Amino acid sequence: MLFGRGKKNPIKIADKKVEKWIYTTCGYCSTGCSIEVGVTDAGKPVASRGVGSAEVNRGKLCIKGIFEHDIFEASGRGEEPLIREKVREDYQTVGWDTALDKAGSEIQRIQEKYGRDSFAIVSTGQLLTEEFYTLGKLSRAVIGTNNYDGNTTLCMASAASGYKRSFGSDGPPGCYDDFDNTDCLIAFGSNLPEQHPVIYWRMREAREKRNFPLIVVDPRVTMFAQFADMHLPITPGTDVVLLNSLMYVILDEGLEDREYIEKHTNGIEAVEKVVADFDPVSASKVCGIDEDTIRTVARLYAKSGAAMSIWTMGINQSTHGSDGVVGINNLNLVTGNIGKPGGTSLSITGQCNAMGTREWSSCSGLPGYRYLENPKEREEIANYWGIDPEFLPKKRGLTETDIFPAIETGQIKGLWLIATNPMTSMANTPRIRKTLERLECLIVQDSYRDVETTEYAHIYFPAATWAEKEGVFTNTERRVNMVRQVTEPHANTKSDLWIFNEMSKRFTQGEKVKFPEKPAQVFDEMRELSKGRLLDISGMDHDKLEQQRGIQWPHPEGSGRDTGDQRLYTDGKFCYADSKAKLIPLPFIDNNEVPDDEYPLWLNTGRLVEHFHTRTKTGKVGNCNKYSPTAFMEMNPDAAAEMGVEHMQYVRVVSRRGDAIVMAQLTQRVPHNMVFIPFHFHDCVNRLTKGLLDPHSRQPAFKQSAVRIESVDQEEAARMNVELRQY
Ligand code: SF4
Repeated sequence: MLFGRGKKNPIKIADKKVEKWIYTTCGYCSTGCSIEVGVTDAGKPVASRGVGSAEVNRGKLCIKGIFEHDIFEASGRGEEPLIREKVREDYQTVGWDTALDKAGSEIQRIQEKYGRDSFAIVSTGQLLTEEFYTLGKLSRAVIGTNNYDGNTTLCMASAASGYKRSFGSDGPPGCYDDFDNTDCLIAFGSNLPEQHPVIYWRMREAREKRNFPLIVVDPRVTMFAQFADMHLPITPGTDVVLLNSLMYVILDEGLEDREYIEKHTNGIEAVEKVVADFDPVSASKVCGIDEDTIRTVARLYAKSGAAMSIWTMGINQSTHGSDGVVGINNLNLVTGNIGKPGGTSLSITGQCNAMGTREWSSCSGLPGYRYLENPKEREEIANYWGIDPEFLPKKRGLTETDIFPAIETGQIKGLWLIATNPMTSMANTPRIRKTLERLECLIVQDSYRDVETTEYAHIYFPAATWAEKEGVFTNTERRVNMVRQVTEPHANTKSDLWIFNEMSKRFTQGEKVKFPEKPAQVFDEMRELSKGRLLDISGMDHDKLEQQRGIQWPHPEGSGRDTGDQRLYTDGKFCYADSKAKLIPLPFIDNNEVPDDEYPLWLNTGRLVEHFHTRTKTGKVGNCNKYSPTAFMEMNPDAAAEMGVEHMQYVRVVSRRGDAIVMAQLTQRVPHNMVFIPFHFHDCVNRLTKGLLDPHSRQPAFKQSAVRIESVDQEEAARMNVELRQY
């Protein structure tokens, strides 16, 4: 007998009166989950659900995706264009024509006075690919500034740089299906369950079937590390040392795939020479992983039938980020683990369309992975766009992280920021604040009016968000997927595509170039330009992408298939002239800020499952924000006891750049000499970070800074914290 059963209230799921489910693709992380958004008969989005027939997520969504329909009407959305003469003045609400005229004339005034490159443009990883392509055309062919980049320099630049150096082109060679085929997985600096929950679920499903070894390399005992067979708590910033040491063991014990190396790579001799200095005994003293573990991991990886590596920001956000990626590629090349099922170097990308910007935005070159440095490719694109090839720069200009120092020195006088929020996301934000104040003209284009950087803008363009528009995203495994429009743009917001097209009309040079109005027409241009290239998408169109729930590139026209290629380089042919990959030696220079007597703790930063980037979206979604409404700091209980810090007490964290007030959470997840603070919160961890730049990718080292802890008045700190977190 079940006592009292009849008295219980049954759980009721509220009827949201969904009339129609509309297919689209998640706009948060790069996993690329297919979503259906439920709308009422009045067209109001009220629910989200995963698409069961989608290969990527097979019906699953994480907490961000489940509540994604809430972002359309979230607080803080921009509604009308705004302008003002001076930053301290009130904004004036104006029509689109006035705002665009003002922006166009300011860009031209600055360029005429100081030169074409004195006006810079920084975009994002969150626009639709058609919008990226159009912005690239506008920046390169019409406005004509070479100082144009994306905020992907903060997250994916090292991966792109490392792929280019090793394989001759960007483009992750693997796919999620590799989890189903691998015999060993190493994850470097990736907390997959929190950062990419659905990729983690794919990996876990595969592992439950075949139980392959999982090794997690991370200074912190992350959720992923807790689930691993082996956790390697590496000293921050020393990945290259560990990777060289793994190579040392593999080469020393003859575990390499000599046939693959000889047939498909160049440079093994130089690599052998450098790794000879990284025997496990010496390496262990630098990277903090004991020599036996290094040997065990090297043997396990090299002897596996197929082995794969994944990584995220733990590798990329380092002064050795690009080298770390090359080190992972070296490891996979010498063991013959590229382009085969279960054998790959798979960078897990960050933002929903970080791949789209790498492929088509022209930020680091020209569309379709073309290089500005290549005269033939410059000419090809100039002819296609209808401009003089001489109008295009002959080499890449400044990256985002070099644009801000160039504002300080007066080289750059005007800036257009599109869907990026450097006042929270850049390292050393006290310096960024002063930098923005020097600009003669700052244009901020964002879906949210309350994004912190708007405080320093002269012109604000309110943009439509995510599925208020139509176009495509590319995910981590090179799968292009369809974002269908679910609802009309909020208030008087406009799609980024419309804004770019309208801006082109403000320039005489814009009369030479065609700017199609419809996303499908823009996609047709991209298809055309992709023919015969590594990222060939000529066999795709918007309808087919929706039908197939996304298609991986390459997918050329006439392939006779509905799906794309799962993997790159399956034939061992890479994108260098002789078709061989490069093995690159990686000497190690220790240039990080490290703990000392004055600042005795490592500061590590990272992400939380509930939040995305600077919380412009998830900070307004109740069911995301309520789990992590405030900044906190993980601290080891023993270190806390020594410093007199108690659980849930506010402390002041101080670095050489600035200070921040956070609440201490005592946990063994961090070692005695480290604290961890999530990066999502404004006026918090990036007031402290140093952000030294990687020499190849110009990506900042967010995760290697030194701090000390000071006590603060608890009531005062609580009051400040509440004020800071209010939206
Ligand atoms: Fe969206 Fe990423 Fe979550 Fe999938 S895992 S629902 S793509 S945030």
